[in-house]
Amino acid sequence: MKNQLTIKNAKLRNQEQLVNIVIDQGMIRQISTHPEVEANESIDAQGNLVTPPFVQSHVHLDSALTAGEPRENISGTLYEGIEIWAQRQKKITREDVISRALKIIKWHVGQGTLLIRSHVDICDPSLTAVKALLEVKEKVAPYVTLQLVAFPQEGIMDYPQALELMEEALKMGVDGVGGTPHLEFTREEGVASINRVFDLAEMHDCFVDIHCDETDDEQSRFLEHVALQAYRRGYGARTTAGHTTAMHSYNNAYADKVLNLAQRANLHFVANPLSNISLMGRFDNYPKRRGLTRVREILERGLNISLGHDNVMDPFYGLGMASMLQVANMCLHVCQMTGIDEMKRVFDMITLNGAKTLQLDDAYGIEEGKPANFMVLDACDEVDALRRMPAITTVISRGQVVASTEPVRTRVALESEEIIDYRK
Ligand SMILES: [Zn+2]
Repeated sequence: MKNQLTIKNAKLRNQEQLVNIVIDQGMIRQISTHPEVEANESIDAQGNLVTPPFVQSHVHLDSALTAGEPRENISGTLYEGIEIWAQRQKKITREDVISRALKIIKWHVGQGTLLIRSHVDICDPSLTAVKALLEVKEKVAPYVTLQLVAFPQEGIMDYPQALELMEEALKMGVDGVGGTPHLEFTREEGVASINRVFDLAEMHDCFVDIHCDETDDEQSRFLEHVALQAYRRGYGARTTAGHTTAMHSYNNAYADKVLNLAQRANLHFVANPLSNISLMGRFDNYPKRRGLTRVREILERGLNISLGHDNVMDPFYGLGMASMLQVANMCLHVCQMTGIDEMKRVFDMITLNGAKTLQLDDAYGIEEGKPANFMVLDACDEVDALRRMPAITTVISRGQVVASTEPVRTRVALESEEIIDYRK
């Protein structure tokens, strides 16, 4: 059959023996050491690691690639970023959003990310970015799953008709609703905003993904209310708390209490190590807090936590190239998760855990009968991948090769000439 492709000599995680993966009609037909069916085409993984695609659990495609527009962020702070973004956002057009988003999605695909959840700012009466990203979602649908969250960058309680705009975005086809309770004027308004987000989600039968307590303020305790609402409404499996950086600064007794509630609710968490380590701790002298949520403690409770890049070259974070390996590498350093098993768990956070956050884990994974979405890394295992952040040599989406990258090899000529690849 024409569509058939076999990946030979693949090293799967937690499995010593190399396997051959036979793809047919976009699905994984067989995984074995001796495929019975000869394929028309084959790719030799040469014993390298083959895993399901990376998952981008939290990104802002509508602001991506706007760094320096209309001016650079001189202080590098979140607050200057918000100021610059407000100016840039006024100049947003449909074409502008579509071309930047498509470019960034190609960067994701090239580096093995095929599942993306993006927030899209609804604080714009014309909803230009929402309409543009819905077009992008449709355009990339054959090879990338893109989920969109209606995100109120300027809050819900004070921005004119924020709830109506969120509702309109949902009716247009946005997948979930977000919030920014810590940006509301008072504790009471933050709590009220969370209630409204859940009301809206229930009414439209969609998921909730809230930017929650993205601050160093240890008094910012909106996670407890998000968890309570999720618990009382039986909505935990469809609720994600993003950032929760204030939890870094909670006293241990309170952190324990709020995590107990999160456990009852069965919440999902998303941490954003690149932006969190850059933007948090800015009011501190020394010692400076790292400002990342309690990743290890969340994992130890059996709760799901995955990772996001958050911003890619925008006024909030001017760096990055949409590499989930870079995000994971930063996570394991900042969280001191450098134990061998901990590093493997960090790799889970950009793969299976991300699929759980996006509620797409049923069709995710390298198993017979599942869609053929996976990649070949220029690495011997997941720890090697996190260390060297190597090329993703082949990316396969629904059975088709959608990206390939030559592995980095360096010619060193000292006493004699040699090609090195930085492997041990
Ligand atoms: Zn964000």
